[in-house]
Amino acid sequence: MLEPTVSSPAAHEADHARRRTFAIISHPDAGKTTLTEKLLLASGAIRQAGQVKARGERRRTRSDWMEIEQQRGISVTSSVMTFERDGIVFNLLDTPGHSDFSEDTYRTLSAVDAAVMVIDAAKGIESQTRKLFEVCRLRDIPIFTFINKVDREGLDPIGLMDDISATLALDLTPFTWPVGMGTDFRGLIDVPGKRALFAEERGGPLTRIVPFAAPEDLIGLDGVDPRILAESVEGLSLALGILPPFDLDSFREGHLSPVFFGSAIKEAGVAALLAGLGGFGPSPLPRTANGRIVQPEEANVSGFVFKVQANMDPNHRDRVAFVRLCSGTFKRGMKLFNAREKRQMAIANPIFFFAQERETVDEAVAGDIIGIPNHGMLRVGDTLSEGETIRFEGIPDFAPEILRRVLLADPIKAKQLQKALQDMAEEGVVQVLRPVADPAPIVGVVGTLQLDVLSSRLDKEYGVPIRYESVSYVTARWIAGERAEMDRFIDANRFSIALDRDQAPVYLARSQWVLDRAIEEWPKLKFLAVKERG
Ligand code: GDP
Repeated sequence: MLEPTVSSPAAHEADHARRRTFAIISHPDAGKTTLTEKLLLASGAIRQAGQVKARGERRRTRSDWMEIEQQRGISVTSSVMTFERDGIVFNLLDTPGHSDFSEDTYRTLSAVDAAVMVIDAAKGIESQTRKLFEVCRLRDIPIFTFINKVDREGLDPIGLMDDISATLALDLTPFTWPVGMGTDFRGLIDVPGKRALFAEERGGPLTRIVPFAAPEDLIGLDGVDPRILAESVEGLSLALGILPPFDLDSFREGHLSPVFFGSAIKEAGVAALLAGLGGFGPSPLPRTANGRIVQPEEANVSGFVFKVQANMDPNHRDRVAFVRLCSGTFKRGMKLFNAREKRQMAIANPIFFFAQERETVDEAVAGDIIGIPNHGMLRVGDTLSEGETIRFEGIPDFAPEILRRVLLADPIKAKQLQKALQDMAEEGVVQVLRPVADPAPIVGVVGTLQLDVLSSRLDKEYGVPIRYESVSYVTARWIAGERAEMDRFIDANRFSIALDRDQAPVYLARSQWVLDRAIEEWPKLKFLAVKERG
C-alpha cells in the first residue's frame, strides 16, 4: 500500500501535502539515469544499483520499436516512478532526453511541481539543459540544481555557478559544496546541515560526518588533505559572501535554485538532494482551469492527461493514459467527467507505477500520477473531473516544422493505416494532417527522430509498412478567426489546407515568404504556431 487509508478532511489535506511530483531535466549523459537510480536506492525503493537500466532493458525487449532508442542510446518514452521516504511520497516523472522530443517533454513538465536540473561538472550548461530549463521557466517551476560528477575533473565550483547563473539568469545558492574535485575529491560540505561528509578512504563512501558551527572550523581537520580542505572552505566562503541567501519564496517562484554538488555514481550529495526535495520542495501546486484556480485541497477530484502510451503490453492493444491528479481524493471505481468527450467514465482499473512494479490504485490524491488503461477514449490534454466540468489550461500542440506525406507499401492496408495513425496522433508521437484535396495523409513532427519511431512502430506494432515522401510545404499554422472569413480563406487556398485530428483547419505554407504574405493579406485571421488544447 502506498499510504494508509484516510477519511477525515484534515487527513486528506496532510496527504497531498506529502506529495512531491518532479522531473529530472538534463542533457544526455549528464547522469540522469544514474541519479534516478540512486534516488530510488536512497529511498529503499530498489535494493541494487543497476535496476533502473535493467528494468529499461527488459521493457525494451518487449517492444521492438524501442530498438531505435537502444541504438541511439536515448530514452524515447517517459514513465513514472513512485517511491517513499520519511513519509513523503515522491512521484518522479521521466522526461525523454532527446531534443527531438520537445513536445512530449513539454507535456511531461506540465505535470510536475518541481524539477531537478542535472549538470555535468565538466561541461556546465549544455544545449538540452537550457531548452528544458526554458520550458520550466514558462511555468516558473522551482528548480533544484544537481552538479554531478564532482569525482571527475570538472570546472571550478565558483566558475560553474557563475556560468549557470549568468546563462540562465537564475540566482543560485549552495547547499552542498565539494571538498576537492576529480582525484582530489574528498567529500562534501552540507551547508544548511552544518556538517561535512568525508570518505574514510579515498574513493570510498562519505561515511565520516563532522559537524561544524562555521565552515572555517573545518580547516586543519585531521585526516583530510589540508590544502584541498582549505581551498574548498575558501571557495565556499567566497560563494556564500557573493551569492544571495536561500529564500523560500524566491525558490518557489522559480527565481532561485539551491545547488547540490555531488556524484551520483558515488552516491554523494544524493541524500542531501532528496532531503531538500522532501523538506522544502513544493507540494502539489494550484492549477488554472476555466479561468479559476483549482486548489489541491478541493474536495472534488480533477486531473489531466499529460501522456498516452499505446501498446505497453503488446499482447493487448491497450493504451494507458497518464493522469496527473490536481485535486480531491480519487478512489477506484469512481466516475469522472471527460470535458472533451462530454461523458462520464468509470475508472475501473487505475494503476500506480512503482520503481519495479505496477499496482492497482485504491486511492490517490493531488500530485499523484495514475495510469488509466483505455481504448482510445482519453487523449493528451483531456481533463477529468468530478462534480463540475473543468478544463485545465496549458498543454498545447506545436506547429510541426517537418512535414512528410505517408505512402503505403501495401494499398490494401489503408484502413489499418488510418487507425494506426490515429493512435499515434493520440499518443502524441506525430501530428496527422489530412489534406482536404488529397487522400494521402501528411504527418508533422518537431524532430526527425519521431519519423523513424513512427515508421518503425507502424511496421512492428500494426503490420503497416510505410514510406515517406517529401512535400513542398515548410511549415503549418492553425487558422483561427470568424467562420465566414475562414471559409473564404479555405476556399481560396484549397490545395494548402489540411484538417488536424480535431478537424481544425491547418494552413500548409510553401515558404516563410508565402506564410508572411498570407498573414498580411488576411489580417482578420490568425495563423497560430501553438494550439491550446481543451
Ligand atoms: P543520462 O544520459 O543523463 O541518463 O546519463 P547516465 O546516468 O546514463 O550517465 C552517463 C555516463 O556518466 C555513464 O557512463 C555513467 O556511469 C556516468 N556517470 C553518471 N554519474 C556519474 C558520476 O557522478 N561520476 C562519474 N564519474 N560518472 C558518472
